[in-house]
Amino acid sequence: MSFFQVGWSPVMKNYSKILALKYRPQTFKQLIGQDEISNSIYNAIKNKITANAYLFTGIRGIGKTTFARIVAKALNCESAINNMCENNCSNCLDITNSNHIDVLEMDAASKTGVDDVRELIEFSRYPPTVAKFKIFIIDEVHMLSKQAFNALLKTLEEPPEYLKFIFATTEVKKIPITVISRCQRYDLSRINSEELFNYLKNITIKEKRSVEDSAIKLIVKISEGSVRDALSLLDRATISNSGETLTFESVQKIFGYVDRSSYIDLLQIIFLGDEKKIINHYRKLYNSGVEPNLFLNDFMEILYYVKNISFIENAGTNFSLNDSDFKKITSLSQKLEPSDILLFWEFTLKTLKEINLVGNPNILIEMFLIQLTYLKKKNIIKTNNKNYNNNSPLEKLDEKIVKNNNAINQIKNFKQEEEKIEKTNNKEIKNLEDLIEMCLDKKEMQLKYDLENNVNLVSFSNMNIEIAFNEKLNKNFVKDLSEKLYHWTKNRWLISFSKEKGSISEKEKLMKLKEEIIEKYKKSSDYKNLQEVIPDIELIDIKKKEDD
Ligand SMILES: [Zn+2]
Repeated sequence: MSFFQVGWSPVMKNYSKILALKYRPQTFKQLIGQDEISNSIYNAIKNKITANAYLFTGIRGIGKTTFARIVAKALNCESAINNMCENNCSNCLDITNSNHIDVLEMDAASKTGVDDVRELIEFSRYPPTVAKFKIFIIDEVHMLSKQAFNALLKTLEEPPEYLKFIFATTEVKKIPITVISRCQRYDLSRINSEELFNYLKNITIKEKRSVEDSAIKLIVKISEGSVRDALSLLDRATISNSGETLTFESVQKIFGYVDRSSYIDLLQIIFLGDEKKIINHYRKLYNSGVEPNLFLNDFMEILYYVKNISFIENAGTNFSLNDSDFKKITSLSQKLEPSDILLFWEFTLKTLKEINLVGNPNILIEMFLIQLTYLKKKNIIKTNNKNYNNNSPLEKLDEKIVKNNNAINQIKNFKQEEEKIEKTNNKEIKNLEDLIEMCLDKKEMQLKYDLENNVNLVSFSNMNIEIAFNEKLNKNFVKDLSEKLYHWTKNRWLISFSKEKGSISEKEKLMKLKEEIIEKYKKSSDYKNLQEVIPDIELIDIKKKEDD
């Protein structure tokens, strides 16, 4: 951010200006991929309907600060929004260069404190010097401290007519709801691949850089919908390629990139069960330079996406999928059994732990992939034939694969496993509360924490737990909980994810109760009396008495 705050443009050796700066959109028309939002803001300002505060959210490099500056220009341009100039009036020019006297940019990542905000508020007491509005642009606003937000709130509630706030954030959840509710909020989405491709293609033509279409497509893919990333990758790739035509292969080499979609394809092939194809596909990946360790990690990531794609909004901040992968995974996930995916997940994790035990990890991976197809067959038998005592030879073989994932210590492990099963007095676990209590008893604090904070219960019946969850859930949660439940109860529990939202978590229940009490107290005469004595008092929290 501070990079852009100064009024100069970095110069690179071979090219006059960094692309991301040179092609930074200056007007609504130049913005790409956010038509709906820019139209709605444009029309509102044109009709003289302006918000006191604008809030732009979205992943990094998607144009939040660019948007903020364009809105600032739209509000302050001498030619007004209808004829908004690109940079011709002094207001627009100064805003572009971040040195407009009435438009203050602040990076909350470096100025988080209440004093910084107080300074800002002090500055807001005076009307603008040259422009129509005084505007505060606060980037990464979620970084402000709680006190800083509180200090800001008052001005935000009743700002002078000449004052506007424009906030940008990558993590909207960290902003107090009281602040969000006073802003006009716009969630910027990732730029879709086609649009980004056309945009980059045009730039390569304008810049007379020779780049193959397939190379541009790969850059689009790697940038995952962020315009800034795409432009800077294009810069880096063309510079390291020293003037020659940039090809798909050279981009792949420069960024050491293995297509995520080839992992998705691999998973699909595994489910079809053709061993020869599986091995060929993996060898291709290996030859393109992917390390076995990295392979497993990437493979796990794909499993995660396939399992949870329905909970992932592609515009969210924590997940990075381009839209074609998103579609591919969505369609694959509809064809696959969730229990298969969970089984694969568990097995991949075990293989990852074992990978350094073998001399040739490459062989391990090939065997791992073959084993996956057997795991899948086994799972089908299990689902089709609920009679677990039916020990067909194949069933036995596969049972062994599941139980003894650790190829080296299999016998030892198996024994330990048996010994480890605790002879609990069969304390029954009948509901979520029982389970949380059990975790407390057994000092499984991570599980307890997740159950209380990150899990919403959908159903809890006989050894069958269905949950929804949030993105903070520990990635080993299901595995850990299954293992513990097995040790505690000597039974295999089925833990599954649900698409339903589930009931509210234990923590949310408490929060809700708290809010209700706060609201009730705020209406009481006690509180009103207090307010008369201290007018700007605000009740923000309550605590349970110890002896309650
Ligand atoms: Zn202007």
